[in-house]
Amino acid sequence: MNIAENKVVTLDYTLTDDAGSVIDSSQDGSFTYLHGSNNIIAGLEKALEGRTVGDEFEVAIQPDDAYGHRDQAKVAIVPRAAFPADIDLEVGMQFHAEGPQGQAMAVMIAGVDGDDITVDGNHPLAGERLTFHVKVLDVRSATLEEIHHGHVHGPGGHHHH
Ligand code: ZN
Repeated sequence: MNIAENKVVTLDYTLTDDAGSVIDSSQDGSFTYLHGSNNIIAGLEKALEGRTVGDEFEVAIQPDDAYGHRDQAKVAIVPRAAFPADIDLEVGMQFHAEGPQGQAMAVMIAGVDGDDITVDGNHPLAGERLTFHVKVLDVRSATLEEIHHGHVHGPGGHHHH
């Protein structure tokens, strides 16, 4: 069975950046997704189209097909007072903040300079070219319920409570 829309795919992968550092990895068959439902980044979904069980390959994905480009408008300096007083602020810490339209967004502290705290709302992988080494472990047809929900159910997938 080949990977196509509405197939449930199980794969092992290793994700590395341009420097060769491993960013993320799943090697125990626990990663599963519903193809064609935007559950994984566009470039990887494209590269998996038509593949079958046992296929193993490497693909480099440009920012346009991954997490997009860095947007300097999402970087801002805010006063120390905007953060809880009892937390030691350090570069790399993540907070949930409210965006300009009141939407929830994740921001990371990119700099601490006295009372000036630089926050960055870009995805940590924005602007990065990503290389995936992928091995396809299983391909099956999705159930109607999975197709309606837009995600995988059962082991490795979504669990409803
Ligand atoms: Zn569901």
